[in-house]
Amino acid sequence: MPVKRIENPGSIIERKEAAPPGEDAEKGLITLPGEAERDIEDLGGGSYLTTKLDTVVNWARGNSLWPMPFGTACCAIEFMSMVSSHYDIARFGAEVVRFSPRQADLMIVAGTVVDKMAPVMKKIYDQMPEPKYVIAMGACASSGGFYRMYHVMQGIDEVIPVDIWVPGCPPTPEGLMYGILKLKEKIERGEIRR
Ligand code: SF4
Repeated sequence: MPVKRIENPGSIIERKEAAPPGEDAEKGLITLPGEAERDIEDLGGGSYLTTKLDTVVNWARGNSLWPMPFGTACCAIEFMSMVSSHYDIARFGAEVVRFSPRQADLMIVAGTVVDKMAPVMKKIYDQMPEPKYVIAMGACASSGGFYRMYHVMQGIDEVIPVDIWVPGCPPTPEGLMYGILKLKEKIERGEIRR
């Protein structure tokens, strides 16, 4: 189906006319990151999407994160708030919370981690399949927070790699959601390599 473009000389973004929901469905009008300029080719009357396999795989991974909460303290309450209906992380495809590391690809460390818990956290991280990502949520997970003492880890990056740091004590649900969206962007850009 031919796509009618709207000329807008004041914008660098090409726009198209919208269709009312449920009407005039246009197949193939999916725009992946960086693909806006070459999304549709009318070949033999059909619509085609041209892209790279890496781009599609990263796009799918970024939009289907399965988090595993490693909640040890008060930050975990804010995590619960984020996955509940008011904030609803399902809008970004990350609502499938799993408590088995073998079914998760995003570890969210929410809370204070003491030295005794560090081997447990490392073991759970090791059991997650690749590719896997880590968010350090809150001051405690990021730096030990105000627990400046011998038995508290001064940041979980002492034992596992961290992709996103979410500041705050506690971070707001919006803050954690922002961190997840930043992680999604990094994954889609293909920036995370281990
Ligand atoms: S950062 Fe603050 S809210 Fe989060 S676990 Fe530490 S003390 Fe609790």
